[in-house]
Amino acid sequence: MDITQKPATEPVIAQHEQTLKTLPFHDRQDFEDARRGFLGALAPSDVRAADGRVVWDGDSYRFLGDGDEAPETVNPSLWRQSCLTAIQGLFEVVPGIYQVRGLDLSNMTLVEGERGVIVIDPLLSAETAAAALGLYREHRGDRPITGIVYTHSHADHFGGVRGVLPMADAEAGDVPIVAPAGFTGHAVSENVYAGTAMARRSGYMYGAALERGPRGQVGAGLGQTVSTGAVGLVPPTVEITATGEEQILDGVRVVFQMAPGSEAPAEMHLYLPERRALCIAENATHVLHNILTIRGALVRDSRVWAGYLTEAIDLFGADLEVLFASHHWPIWGRERAVEFLGLQRDLYAYLHDQTVRMINQGLTGPEIAEAMVLPPALERAWHTRGYYGSVSHNVRAIYQRYMGWYDGNPARLWPHPPVEAGRRYVAFMGGADAVVAKARESFADGDFRWVAEVLGHVVFAEPDHEAARELLADTFEQLGYGAENGTWRCAYLSGAHELRHGGFGTPTATASPDMLAQLSAEQVFDSLAIRVNGPRSWDERVVLDLVLTDTGARYRVVLRNGVLTYTKAPQADPADAMLLLPAGALAALAIGGTPPGIEVDGDTSALGRLLATLDAPDPDFAIVTP
Ligand SMILES: [Zn+2]
Repeated sequence: MDITQKPATEPVIAQHEQTLKTLPFHDRQDFEDARRGFLGALAPSDVRAADGRVVWDGDSYRFLGDGDEAPETVNPSLWRQSCLTAIQGLFEVVPGIYQVRGLDLSNMTLVEGERGVIVIDPLLSAETAAAALGLYREHRGDRPITGIVYTHSHADHFGGVRGVLPMADAEAGDVPIVAPAGFTGHAVSENVYAGTAMARRSGYMYGAALERGPRGQVGAGLGQTVSTGAVGLVPPTVEITATGEEQILDGVRVVFQMAPGSEAPAEMHLYLPERRALCIAENATHVLHNILTIRGALVRDSRVWAGYLTEAIDLFGADLEVLFASHHWPIWGRERAVEFLGLQRDLYAYLHDQTVRMINQGLTGPEIAEAMVLPPALERAWHTRGYYGSVSHNVRAIYQRYMGWYDGNPARLWPHPPVEAGRRYVAFMGGADAVVAKARESFADGDFRWVAEVLGHVVFAEPDHEAARELLADTFEQLGYGAENGTWRCAYLSGAHELRHGGFGTPTATASPDMLAQLSAEQVFDSLAIRVNGPRSWDERVVLDLVLTDTGARYRVVLRNGVLTYTKAPQADPADAMLLLPAGALAALAIGGTPPGIEVDGDTSALGRLLATLDAPDPDFAIVTP
C-alpha cells in the first residue's frame, strides 16, 4: 500500500458524476459479448518465468469486479472498460475458432484445422503464450501447431511465438509462419532505433511500476497491461503481399486483405470464408486507437486506416457472421459487425478530415484538440471512446503529420528549453514560493491542467523545491483519477510516483537477442550510427571494409566528422582494416560489442577505435524532473 496516494478531490468526483449521467451505462451488451462462449479460465492466473518471476498477474485485477460501481479515484468509463478487458479465459468465437483473452495485453486466436491448430498472434511473451496454449489444450485437446499467423509487426502479436512453437519445429520450418510483407524489417526497426526511449516511456504509458488498485494502475484500455516475459521472434516463412491472396493453412481457406501503414506499418486482415469470420487485426477494436502512441512513435495515417475499413466492409461485409480482432471481444451478427466497422471507419476518417479542415482555417494542434467534438453516434458508442488513443492526443498527432512541431507563430519558433524557460517564468511570477501559493488556489478550483503547467516550470527551475514537487505529484494524481484514457491515467500516476519516490527506470524489457538477430546489416550500421557520440569523435577517422563470410555481401563503413555512414558500392581507396564475419555475428556489433569469430585483416585497432566512439543509451533518463 502506497500511503502517499491521496483521495479524489471534489472537482474530480463531480466530473465522474457527470460522466455517469451522460454515457449509456445501462447498455450491457459488451459484458455479454466479452463472456460469450466462455469455456474456462486459468486459475490462479499468475504466469511465471522459469526463474519464478511473475510475468503476468491477472488476479491482481480482482478488485475490479464486474463494472457495477467505480471508486471515486477512477473515471467510471475507464473503470467499465477495465472490467471488460480484465475478463480472462478461453472463449469459443464460433465452432472451430477460439480466443484466449485477458492473459496478456493482446488476444491469442486459435483456428482448428484438419490436423491441428493455427495460432493467430501468439501474444507478447513466451510464458503467457505457453499458458494460453495450455488453457486451450486443456479444453480442446492436445492438437499440434500447424500454422502461425502474425497479423502485424507489433511485439504483442509475435513476441510469444517461442511459447507455442517448439524449437525443433521452428528450426525445421515445417510449420508455415504467415505475415504481411515487410513484417520483419518493421518488427525489429520499431523497437531498435529509438527503442530505449520508447521503452522508458512505455513504463509511463502502461504504468508498469504502479501498484494495481483503485488509486493505481487499473488497465491500459487496450488490455490490462503488458506481460514482462521473454520476447522472441521467429521470422515468417510466408509473406503475404496482395489483397485477395489466398492460402490453405491446415485445410483452412484464408483470404487476406493488406493494410500496410495503418495501425502498424506492416498489417493485414484475414477472412475465413468457411466460418464467415473476419479477423480485423488491430484496425477496429473496442477503443479509439492511437494515431500516435504517447510512448512515442511515427505518426500513423488515419486517412489510409479508414480506407482499409471501408475496403473490409466491401470485401467481406456481405457474408459475415463474426468479427474478431487481436484485442478485446468479438462482435456477432452481420448487421452489428458491419455497423461496428462502419463506426470505427467514421471515427478515424472524421478525426482526420476535421483536423485538416481546421488546420486550413488556421487552428493549431492544441486548439483543434479542444475544438474537436465527435458526432453523436460516435460519442454514444462505447467502442469509439478514447481508452487507448484519445481525441486530444490523436488530433495533435494528425496536426504533426501534416504540419510538424511548429505552429507557424514565430513567438514559438525559438523558445528557451524547459529549464531556462522555467527559471524565467518563476522569476517573473515572483519566485517559487509565490507560484506554489497561487497554484494551491488553482488546485482548489480544480484547474489541474494549469497547475501542472506552472508547477512544471517551478520543478524544472528548482527541482529540490519540496512543496512544488509534492503539489505537482498531487496534481498529476488528480489528473490521473479524472482520465478516461487508460494510458493517460498510467502516465499521470507514473509522473506522480516518480516525483514522490524517485525514478523507476525501465521496468520492461527492450529489444531481445532474438530480435537483434533479425537485424539486417544495414539496420546494424544504422543502430551503430545513432550511438556515435558526435562531439567526442569529430577528430576520429575509421575506414572499414566488412565482408559477411556466409552471404559474400561487402560494405564500406566510414566514421568521420562524428558521422558513421556505409555503402555497398566498390571503393577505390584502401580501408584501415577488413573485417570478415558471418552475418549471424552482426547482432553483437549492434549492441556495441566485438562480434565472436571475427577476423581482422589490417589495422587491428580500427574496430576498437570505432566502438570507443559509441554512447550507451540511458534507460533511466529523467522525465518529470530536469
Ligand atoms: Zn496490439
